[in-house]
Amino acid sequence: MALTPLELRPLGNTGLKLSSLGFGASPLGNVFGIVSEADAIATVRQAFNLGINFFDTSPYYGGTLSEKMLGKALKALGVPRNEYIVSTKCGRYKEGFDFSAERVTRSIDESLERLQLDYVDILQCHDIEFGSLDQIVTETIPALLKLKEAGKIKFIGITGLPLGIFSYVLDRSPPGTVDVILSYCHYGINDSTLEDLIPYLKSKGVGIISASPLAMGLLTESGPPEWHPASVELKAACQDAAAYCKDKGKNISKLSLQYSLSNKDISTILVGMNSVKQVDENVAAAVEVATVGKDEKAISEIEEILKPVKNQTWPSGIQQS
Ligand code: NAD
Repeated sequence: MALTPLELRPLGNTGLKLSSLGFGASPLGNVFGIVSEADAIATVRQAFNLGINFFDTSPYYGGTLSEKMLGKALKALGVPRNEYIVSTKCGRYKEGFDFSAERVTRSIDESLERLQLDYVDILQCHDIEFGSLDQIVTETIPALLKLKEAGKIKFIGITGLPLGIFSYVLDRSPPGTVDVILSYCHYGINDSTLEDLIPYLKSKGVGIISASPLAMGLLTESGPPEWHPASVELKAACQDAAAYCKDKGKNISKLSLQYSLSNKDISTILVGMNSVKQVDENVAAAVEVATVGKDEKAISEIEEILKPVKNQTWPSGIQQS
């Protein structure tokens, strides 16, 4: 057990309190390499035992495998349902995108079955920049509101890469209908552009989840997976930074995670984890930053190396008309 418990932070107006470090379950869908069922169960158990109470998945991850694995692992915990918070998504599938009311309504039933749950705490429209944002406002969110009334979901969220999608949808939705946003790869050492949106989100009472503090593997010693969309230049700069840290006896993943965790306006930082070792390392890093603070010197050295590529991102989604 960690000596100091993980910090709990409020999620917008939802009343939920999420552990500052959240469990990203995409690796349980074998997205970053094969993870056995036994390892998946042990990883989730370790995360829960060390104070992680928030688990995020999607039917898209591993073509439904992540939801199935997470469902088995949560059941194996054998603890009351209200002791953990689960978020899944709708609208993005192995077969493609479909944000229609009919598809997302069917989707939640399929997800609940795979997760072996009666409800999820948060259902998020997954990567909305690949659909019509107007459809999200006029069709998808109203369908999700019905699921809320039916008790299948507690809160509604939207996710995606370009930050402009969030204000587009929030500005056009009745206040209080979208409870949460999930942004990824925009609050880390190499890209911190989410920061500019935080005052707006706070003014709307919308909870903020930030994912991929390791920039989907860019800020790790072993580097990103083959499919990573970053430019050659960004990948090279991150690998230079990782090598620099290694030389100094530092771990780039730990420093990156601590950088992201330091902003308390963000309710939770979601990290993809596929082993007990990664859970142990990441929880220790979270506890250390909450008690001792972050390694300012090492972080500013990495920022210097990454300066030429600072806030560089990649295209995602379709052009909205
Ligand atoms: P990430 O930045 O968390 O990186 C994950 C990679 O880093 C994996 O290969 C993992 O094994 C590795 N890793 C984790 N801890 C490590 C450590 N201590 N040392 C070395 N390597 C370590 O990226 P991610 O998994 O893509 O994002 C986290 C989660 O956020 C996802 O699982 C998913 O739940 C969510 N997410 C959602 C969206 C979306 O909704 N559009 C997008 C991205 C991520």
